[in-house]
Amino acid sequence: MYPLALRLAGRRVLVVGGGAVATRRVPALLDAEARVVVVAPELTPALRAHVDAGRVEWVAREFAPADLDGAWLVQVAVDDPAAAEAVSAAALDRQIFCVRADDRDAATAWTPAVTRHGPLTVAVLGGGDPRRAVAVRDAIREQLISGTLSGRPAERTGADGSVPDGVTPPGPPERPVGRVALVGAGPGDPELITVRGRRLLAEADVVVADRLVPGLLLDELRPEVELVDATKIPHGPAAAQEEINRVLVDRALAGARVVRLKGGDPYVFGRGGEEALACAAAGIPVTVVPGVTSSVAAPAAAGIPVTHRGVAHEFTVVSGHLPPEHPDSLVDWSALARLRGTLVVLMGLNNLPAIAAALRAHGRPSETPAAVVQEGTTGAQRVVRSTLDEVAAHARAAGIRPPAVVVFGDVVTTLSSALPDRSPAGE
Ligand code: SAH
Repeated sequence: MYPLALRLAGRRVLVVGGGAVATRRVPALLDAEARVVVVAPELTPALRAHVDAGRVEWVAREFAPADLDGAWLVQVAVDDPAAAEAVSAAALDRQIFCVRADDRDAATAWTPAVTRHGPLTVAVLGGGDPRRAVAVRDAIREQLISGTLSGRPAERTGADGSVPDGVTPPGPPERPVGRVALVGAGPGDPELITVRGRRLLAEADVVVADRLVPGLLLDELRPEVELVDATKIPHGPAAAQEEINRVLVDRALAGARVVRLKGGDPYVFGRGGEEALACAAAGIPVTVVPGVTSSVAAPAAAGIPVTHRGVAHEFTVVSGHLPPEHPDSLVDWSALARLRGTLVVLMGLNNLPAIAAALRAHGRPSETPAAVVQEGTTGAQRVVRSTLDEVAAHARAAGIRPPAVVVFGDVVTTLSSALPDRSPAGE
């Protein structure tokens, strides 16, 4: 075995077969920007979608040896051994490397188990034991995700400055380029951060975290990571935001990889936009990693789909941090009351009596189903089901506290009889 990475951009790669194996292999070929040609009388719907989108060329018939003309690589993905053998033989004739899913001994190239981690690609061959390759790949992936293995230059040299075999010695240290990533941490369950968010967290030098960020995510940080608790920054809210912006900019200018970790999605009532502007104004590269927002996830965790066919064709997310009629409020509560779909209110617990009253006063029926979900997706999740008329009183009687979302609309009861409420303190 001689490991190689193929640079396939713009090069013809033939895939013979249009079934499940081909469906699994084509995406990685497309990711490598190969010119993928599939030869098969029929295709799975997923492959057909690639064809319809113009990403894959389809030759709708059985394989013919001339299909290999101009190909750099062929992937055999047919069930019939005789058909597979015919492709192999034609490829051998033309000295084109041939991957065979059905028979690794007949193949002239093996595909490794792969994991991709940002710019890093890890490929593992199990010496004829694919399950072992997958197990090793998974172990490496887990360590990359958790940050136990970062593979960054500082760690490539031993304590004595020695370089392990096969690793190019690092040149003079690169000039550090700082950057800021605004990362959505998800609604509360630490498993609901995105894969990219978790990777950037594992690579961070500095993490600036919010109150709503799942603690377990911070628990995993390497000891040398500087953790800035944004909730502990003194001064009033406005000054605190300026101070957070200043920390982001300062650390990035000093060359750090900064992760600004925010509950839910960074741009949903999270002031992420202000932080992005502050970084941009200071000339610092800033990226945003979207997060699973509590406005959708907390209802879902309580068995409430924000839309449902035949029940709600819209959902609206609003902030309830200001009461209706407040001079600074940008929310048109009378318009919301006229909508028939789902209304999700964040930061609305304190103003819930006024919000419910405004919706009723402007015409939303008082028997509209309503629910309050506290600490959705976490072990402490609590759910109160009620109606527009009574939800404020019920939430108060149940001792519901922030963070909580309030959901109004028929979707609240759509699944409730079929799905048991699994929340620990579910009412
Ligand atoms: N960016 C966040 C929202 C920030 S505003 C997001 O996309 O989820 C803070 C409000 O979000 C809280 O007052 C509460 O209304 C809601 N919230 C956040 N996490 C929550 C959770 N786990 N359960 C219920 N509501 C939550």
